[in-house]
Parts: sequence; structure tokens; C-alpha cells
Amino acid sequence: MDSVLSLTPLLQAGEPVTRPTFWRIGSVGEVLFYYLAAVTILVFLYGVYDRFARYARGTEDPFDRLDDLPGRVLQAAKTVTTNEKQFDRDLYGGIMHAFILWGFLTLLIGTTILGIDMDIYRNLTAWFTGERQSFFVGDFYLSYSLVMDSLGFLFVVGVGMALYRRYVTRNERLWGKHTSSEDALFVWTLFLLGVGGYLTEGLRILGTGYPDFETVSFVGWFVADVFGFVGVSQSGAAALYPIAWWSHAVLALGFIAWIPYAKPFHMISSFANLVTRDEKAGNRLPGVPADLAPDEIGFTGIEDLSWKQLLDHDACTKCGRCSAVCPAKASGRPLDPRDVVLDLKAYRESVDAGGEQTPIVADGGGVIDAATMESCMSCMACMDACPVDIEHVPQFTEMNRRLTETGAMDEGVQDVMMDVFMKGNSFGEPQRKRSNWADDLDFDIPDARDEAVEYLWYVGDYPSFDERNKRIARSVAKILEAADVSYGILYDDEKTDGNDVRRVGEEGLFEELADHHADVLADCEFEKIVCTDPHSFNTFKHEYPVLNGLEWPAEEGDVYHYTQVVNDLASDLPLSGTELDYTVTYHDPCHLGRMNNEYDAPRDLVRETGCDLFEMPRNRADSFCCGGGGGGLWIDQDEDTKPSEERLREALEDTDAGERVEKFVVACPMCMTMYEDGRKTGNYEDELEIVGVSELLAEAIDAAGREPEGATAGVEVDTDAGGEGATADD
Ligand code: SF4
Ligand code: SF4
Repeated sequence: MDSVLSLTPLLQAGEPVTRPTFWRIGSVGEVLFYYLAAVTILVFLYGVYDRFARYARGTEDPFDRLDDLPGRVLQAAKTVTTNEKQFDRDLYGGIMHAFILWGFLTLLIGTTILGIDMDIYRNLTAWFTGERQSFFVGDFYLSYSLVMDSLGFLFVVGVGMALYRRYVTRNERLWGKHTSSEDALFVWTLFLLGVGGYLTEGLRILGTGYPDFETVSFVGWFVADVFGFVGVSQSGAAALYPIAWWSHAVLALGFIAWIPYAKPFHMISSFANLVTRDEKAGNRLPGVPADLAPDEIGFTGIEDLSWKQLLDHDACTKCGRCSAVCPAKASGRPLDPRDVVLDLKAYRESVDAGGEQTPIVADGGGVIDAATMESCMSCMACMDACPVDIEHVPQFTEMNRRLTETGAMDEGVQDVMMDVFMKGNSFGEPQRKRSNWADDLDFDIPDARDEAVEYLWYVGDYPSFDERNKRIARSVAKILEAADVSYGILYDDEKTDGNDVRRVGEEGLFEELADHHADVLADCEFEKIVCTDPHSFNTFKHEYPVLNGLEWPAEEGDVYHYTQVVNDLASDLPLSGTELDYTVTYHDPCHLGRMNNEYDAPRDLVRETGCDLFEMPRNRADSFCCGGGGGGLWIDQDEDTKPSEERLREALEDTDAGERVEKFVVACPMCMTMYEDGRKTGNYEDELEIVGVSELLAEAIDAAGREPEGATAGVEVDTDAGGEGATADD
């Protein structure tokens, strides 16, 4: 495939295997080309400088995103070249993008190699040896031509696939509020560049009389044949060649100059975004600087956005992967994560151009509406799906902080926040009732404030106060007793963990809760923390340890979800692995799976009971949120279908079980509440039961205890955990 520089004069017999440059372009044309190329490079460099200068005017980012820069660049290069993110959930998109990317990079590298030969190597050899030499000859030239033609062909195929998907099958994901002419211009320009290169090459091969060695340029050879077939003669091809060459050259130079000013800039910005990614983005949110006045908290204006957030917006390719996996959008809520990113970008561009300023987020009249932010469940599916690592959730939290400060937060959430503030729990119950869930047990739960324990168990609000979830707390206690481990709880010194408090924007209250727990734990003697709720687990593990000024007495590695601890203790449990024979499916909670990469421990435990475990299509990192996170559990949403109902339908209709699953297994108390609700409102009560992993295990331990040879660990485990009775005390 011809690049704009690989231009061949008529070859004479006996001349080396190569193609001399600027065939039929002439010396004036050559000078003009270099002039245009220089202007192009200046326009390109200015555009790139302007973009990055704009980022530099953003606020500082609280995290170190440039440590181990070589390692970061290598990792980003691996992510880009393997196309791993594009293949995720979309084989067609992965192949398409890989063809375009690899083809484009090959053509870019090939053109650069030719430029080095022409403008550097030949001049240097002339300077030092007196003879102008080229390495663009012989085997090198033949290999070069073969590689360029092959990868260039993949490039054209890839762009063709993109056109087909955009304009023929009209993939819904690619069309949205911000679809514009630049999207069409981008993809059609790539197509014309690819096809134009082959047309130019075909004319050259025909015009130069089919040099034998040019068979390596097999696509160009084929195009030359087509020209010949439609009646173009050798002299006609030679005459047409300069027209084709200049068209191709001007288009290529125009494209390069355009890159920093429109969608093609994502080729640069997305790489920069990958290099500066925060691998814990969303797991731990940035804090609020202590010296900020209330009217400065959150996104008040575009000047509050950090350089990374501005880069995020420019890196967006409009691919729509985030929107396609967003449970809020799927439920008909007024949230489309791509639109939020691009709305913010469009607003910034308009302000930079002198446009009117409005509040970034408000209950009416803002760039982003309050209802949009209230719709987010902080499930992180958008961030997981984004191929360029855009960090949606931290930005959404900044907007929630603004809504909180302006009193525009949803009333239901405000009430819960008041309960947490006044009572220390999201149920508004007296704290002395916090441990009432344990009253029915026939053993005492040790008090970790009074005795040294191995596992300090943070029970959490829902297992402490919600009737259905109290069964989860009791079953976890029974398992810990059965495994004979040293553990204890904080009784009424335990308060709301604050994970969702933080995500709805109440940073001050979150900090108070973190301070409280740090103080209480500082007086306890323990080795590890174990949490019932993945939300607590996430915040204890990732957020408390890095909170400014907090002396948190535990390390990240000391914090576990109960399924992890119990899985490690599984060999100490009196189970044979055949106690239960239910057909079940398991739902990965966002905060345990996608956010903390724990998929196997709960599955191992379910299998440990003897149940047959089958997967829903959306499992592990692709799991579909129950709708409860990010304050979703506290808001009455106006939606077409609840995410929980949609998920239960998936469990009943789409698992690979071949029969109806009987139990829908959860590992998160909030999921339990959401799915019990979805089971009722979706009319699934007669079809499916919701059970916790711990309930299944407790039932299995109890079943083992009833077998003559089954030895329990000296603990009688009651059977209220499983079977239809599991929801009896709802
Ligand atoms: S975090 Fe979840 S609910 Fe919120 S925008 Fe992303 S995908 Fe949608
Ligand atoms: S934010 Fe990421 S996933 Fe969403 S449209 Fe932009 S690039 Fe695609």
C-alpha cells in the first residue's frame, strides 16, 4: 500500500528492487508537499499543546497518577495493542477495532520508516560517504511492501466493519444525544485514506508496467488489474497518478492537522487517560479539602474540574459501552453515563469559547439535572466497560456533593442521612437495639471491645436492623461458631459504615463515621476485620485507610468479606459437600465482584453445600446491579422496570441450568433487600427464593448435623436459614 511518501518513478531494467520517491510529482510538487507537511505538523502540534495546556489549567488531582511512569506507559501500551477492553462483551467491536488500530499503527510506522530513509538516512550517507544510499531496497523493501499491504488491507476491512455497524445495522449503542457530523467525518476519512492508498498504489503498479517484484503488494496489484480491466492503459494510469497522489496526500495531511481538534484526538487523549488511570478509582473516592467553604464543595463551576477530569471528557470515544451496561438507563431512569461525560465536555467547550455559565448540577437549570445524579447506583459497570478508563463515579460524587450542599438532595435520602447523623444507623433505631438480632441465638456473641479477637466482625446496618437480613447475621454467627474461630462484634459502638453516605455526597457525615470507627477500633485488640456487607467491606478496605488525618488501625489487607473468611475456614466446617441439592444461581454484588474482584469465594461456598450452581449470562464483572447502591435503596425511583425484577427474570429464564433455578443466592444484605422487593413486585414469589450464601451454608451444616455420622462443631444450627421459611419473618 502506498503511503503519501512512497512514490515510484518508472523503473528501468537492472535498477534495484525499490521505488524511488515523488514519481511524476516534480520538484515543485515536492517542495509544495514539504511546505504543506510542515504547516500540518505545526497545526497539529499547536492543537495538542492547546489541549494539554487546558488540562494544566484544571485543578490538582488528589491521587498520584504519574508514579512509575514507564510501568504505566507499558501497561497502557499493552491495553491498547491487545484491544482487550474492546473485545470485552463485543467480539465484533473487538475485531473491528483491532483491525483499524493495528492497520493504522502499521501504516503510521511504515510511513515514518520511509521518511527516515528519505530525509535522514540518505542525507547522512551522502554527507559521510559522498554517496546517497537507501535502506529502502531489496528484501527490506519487499518485506515492507508485504506488511504494509497486508495490514493496510485489515485497516480497510476494519473501517468497513465500522461503517457497516454504524450505517447498515445501525448499532443503537453508537447513536446518541452527542452523535454529530464529526463522527461521520472521522470514519469516512479513515475509509477514504485506506482506499485512496490502494488506488494510488494500483495506478503506480499499472503505470510502471507491473514490475515483477511488486506482486508482494498484492492488494495494489489487484487494484492495478481492476484498472486494467476497466480500460485504463499504462499511460492513462501514469497520467492519473499525480491526481490520485495529491488527493491522497492532501486528505492525509488534512486528517493529521484535524486530529487535535475533534474526535480523532481520542487516539492521543485515550492513551494519556490509560497512562494516568487510578486503579482504585471508585473504590476510594477523593476527599474534600478541609479548607473548602460549603459553597465551594463539589462541582460549582467548570473551574472545579481537575486536569484528569478534563482529560477524561476528551478521551471519550462516544462508543456507548458505558450506557449499554448502565442499569439506571436500562430501567428507564434519566441517566445516561455517556451523555453526562459529553454534556460536561460540551459545557466546558462552550464556557471556554465565552459562553454563558450555569450551575453544573442543580434541581432544574443545571448542565446536569439532580434527578440524573440521583439515578446512579454507584455500581461501577460504566467504568468497568469503558475502554479508555474514564472515571464516571468520582465525578458523579462531586455533583452529589454539590446537590447536598445546596439542599437539592432527594428527600428520602435526606431523611436517612438525618437518621445516620442523629442515631448512628440508617434505620433511625436506637443504637441499643443494634445487637438484638443475636437474641434468638443459643450462644453469646463475644464483645470485641472487652476481649482480644482474631476477627473483628462489622455486622452492618441491614443485618442488624432489617428483619430479613437479621437471618443473614445469625447464619454468619453460626458459621463462625461452627468453625470455632475467635471473633467479636462492636455492639452499640458500631455505626453505619458510610460507603453509601459518601456516594450520595455527604462527605462530612462520612468523615464523622470513619472517625468514630477509627476511635472505637483503636481501643480493640484484633487481627482482621470481617464485614457482612460488601459496601462496608469496600469502605473499610479502601477508604478509611487513606482518609486524610484518620489514624485507621487496620491495613487494607486486614479487611475481608465474610465469604472470603468462611471460604478459608471451609475445611473446618462439618460438611461433606453433598448436604443440599438445590438448583441455584449466584448474583455477584457490585461491591464484592466488580469493585473488589472477589468472584470465587462465594461460588466455592455454594458448591461446598452440594447445590448445583448455574450462571446467569451477566455474571462476574458483567453482573447487573440490584439497584440498591449509591443511595438507590433509599430513593423511590420512577422507572419502567426495577433492576431487581429484570435480574430475577434473567435468573429464571436465561441461566444455563436447563431447568428452573430454585434459589437466587446473594452475598450482600442490600441485594437481599432489593431482591426480596423485586420478588414481590415482579410476581416471582412462587417461582424463586432469595437466600444468602451464609444461609445456604448454615442449612448445610444443620443437615450434616442430622446425619448419624455427621459431626458438627458442637453448635446446633437452626434451620430458619433455608427453605421456604427463609422469608417468614420479613
Ligand atoms: S455507576 Fe452504574 S448506575 Fe451509575 S452511571 Fe455507572 S453504570 Fe450507571
Ligand atoms: S465514557 Fe467510555 S464507555 Fe462511555 S462512551 Fe465514552 S469512551 Fe465509551
